[in-house]
Amino acid sequence: MLNPRLIAVFLALLVSSITSLFIWFTEQSILVVFVGFMASFFTTGLLTFMVLDYFIFEEVNKIYSTLQDLKMKGLSISKKKIDKIADPLKKINEELNVYASKKERQITDLKKSERFRREFLADVSHELKTPIFAAQGFVHTLIDGAVNDVNVRDKFLEKAAKSLDGLDELVRDLVALSQMESGEIRMNRTKVDLYKLVVEVVEQLEKKAINKNISITIFPKDAEPIFVYVDAFRMNQVMTNLIENGIKYGNEWGKVQILFEPDHKHWKIFIKDNGPGIPEEHLNRIFERFYRVEKSRSKDMGGTGLGLAIVKHILAGHKSKISVSSKVDKGTTFSFKLEKSFD
Ligand code: ADP
Repeated sequence: MLNPRLIAVFLALLVSSITSLFIWFTEQSILVVFVGFMASFFTTGLLTFMVLDYFIFEEVNKIYSTLQDLKMKGLSISKKKIDKIADPLKKINEELNVYASKKERQITDLKKSERFRREFLADVSHELKTPIFAAQGFVHTLIDGAVNDVNVRDKFLEKAAKSLDGLDELVRDLVALSQMESGEIRMNRTKVDLYKLVVEVVEQLEKKAINKNISITIFPKDAEPIFVYVDAFRMNQVMTNLIENGIKYGNEWGKVQILFEPDHKHWKIFIKDNGPGIPEEHLNRIFERFYRVEKSRSKDMGGTGLGLAIVKHILAGHKSKISVSSKVDKGTTFSFKLEKSFD
């Protein structure tokens, strides 16, 4: 690799050879040619080396030190490396360009997460406000006299309690989501029979399904264990959210099906309903926090708008990804893969 020393030797050799040639033409003496060669070799070499080293490489090193002082740690060249580089100015220029575009990307990401944070804060405040104001309204009406009418009292107390239950659910979901995002919650993975887990979830949701005359079926019907390596509590949350959504948003007299399909390393799980479906333009947004397809309808059904965001996070914690396909008026299918447990 070229460095100031090599360049100096090369130039010195060139200049002293030409000088020696000229001396040879005038003075045909080997001694004079030798002295001339040596004199021009050392002076040219020394001068070139000094000029290169002090005026260029030293200057570049100074620029580099300044960059280091500015804490530009992303630069991938070291002082030693600079000494060996043939064109250090070009190299530093290239490095600075790479560094600048890296920083630009970081700034864009920071701006994006700042906007996200602001929107999230606004959404949270809005979501909290609704049940608080409702409960507050009922309680104040009771205090202002409605408490004396037994019928109104019971109705208002029930409504206030329902709002506070919604608030409780929202805060729980928010805490779970923020803990998952900050990595505070670790997935406690063990060998779990997913079939059994789904049967338990379905039993818990049976009453809600019966209220809407919705049938829930698990395929295959034979209760063979389906062993996967998951956090049982979190997987219960995933299945509850997805099956409950199928019931909540499904049509009266509708169907919700849970299907298990194996491949050689995984189990693929499908949660399918024949409800109203989700229009295509909403499909890639439903996993965002507080995103609802039909805002007022979803809220009336008691959802926090965080269910699918939580599902997505839990599955990411299991190195899996949720997918959705849906056709308006035909139904919706959510699916994901889990690694089989072989031990
Ligand atoms: P929520 O807690 O409000 O139910 P989710 O995050 O679980 O929120 O779902 C986000 C939105 O996606 C819902 O508000 C609803 O509009 C839509 N959605 C979810 N699952 C279904 C489904 N099975 N069928 C139709 N729409 C659905």
